[in-house]
Amino acid sequence: LDEVKSRKSALFDGRYERICTLGKGNFGKVYLARDCSTGQEVAVKVVDKTSIKSGDQRQHALNEKEICEGFAQRLNHKNVVNVYEVFTDHENIYVAMEYVEGGELFEKIKQRHRLEEPLAKRWFREIIEAVYYIHKNGIVHRDLKPENVLIDKYQKIRICDFGFGKFCERQQVLNTYCGSPFYAAPEMVTATPYRGPPVDMWSCGVILFAMLAGTLPFQGNDMPQLFRRINNGAYTMPQHISREAADLINRLLCKSAKGRISAEECLKHPWLNHNNRLVGGLE
Ligand code: ADP
Ligand code: MG
Repeated sequence: LDEVKSRKSALFDGRYERICTLGKGNFGKVYLARDCSTGQEVAVKVVDKTSIKSGDQRQHALNEKEICEGFAQRLNHKNVVNVYEVFTDHENIYVAMEYVEGGELFEKIKQRHRLEEPLAKRWFREIIEAVYYIHKNGIVHRDLKPENVLIDKYQKIRICDFGFGKFCERQQVLNTYCGSPFYAAPEMVTATPYRGPPVDMWSCGVILFAMLAGTLPFQGNDMPQLFRRINNGAYTMPQHISREAADLINRLLCKSAKGRISAEECLKHPWLNHNNRLVGGLE
């Protein structure tokens, strides 16, 4: 009986066989697994419903389910992780999705200390293409950070983790605070109700800064200090960053949500349109 039980726990609903752990975030554990019927390798995110204590966590888990289900039906973009199916049992919510092999953008920045502009430009353009696509489809991600940006085996960007995602009608005001504080927009860290899409653009500004500088634009010894700095909107641009890249960062890290550049405008920005050739391989 024990053997039967352990075999069952290595299977997700009898459909996927667990191979190993891929990653862990605040809300879920992600496993590499094999689809028992096709033999295909997939990633399965498991959100434990029984460990959910607060109402907020519960909301988050339900949100993950809803948004991913919506996703599986609606979205399909080359730079967004493909969700195959979402299912639940009495313990967990499972999100079966495409396995992205290359790891997190976070690791790539750490390995190289910082990214050279041509590579940062290539990856950042793909991030913005994905963000433009999800915004156009009425979704705000709200937790964009290098841990949630994956690189596939072709060295292409794949955005994942829609646990904080939100379907948002045009002009709808969203009120919940979410995401990582380092990537949070001023309207997110103050009591102001915020409109959706610009919060993602701010996070993209922090990501671009992190890619090119290898550090974060806003840091603090504690949350109040960090939030004060974000709200003041003052940061130091490293000397080595090109004028055009610095201009794009400034437009993304614009304190006013209304004045902040949109994903659509971003794609037209000179920095993303003047091609300098990638020198050398990607590794
Ligand atoms: P959380 O909501 O807990 O942050 P994520 O969905 O971000 O969970 O997943 C946690 C980590 O698992 C990610 O940061 C990433 O390293 C890894 N991961 C997530 N999805 C995939 C995937 N489709 N393929 C490969 N690794 C993944
Ligand atoms: Mg995550």
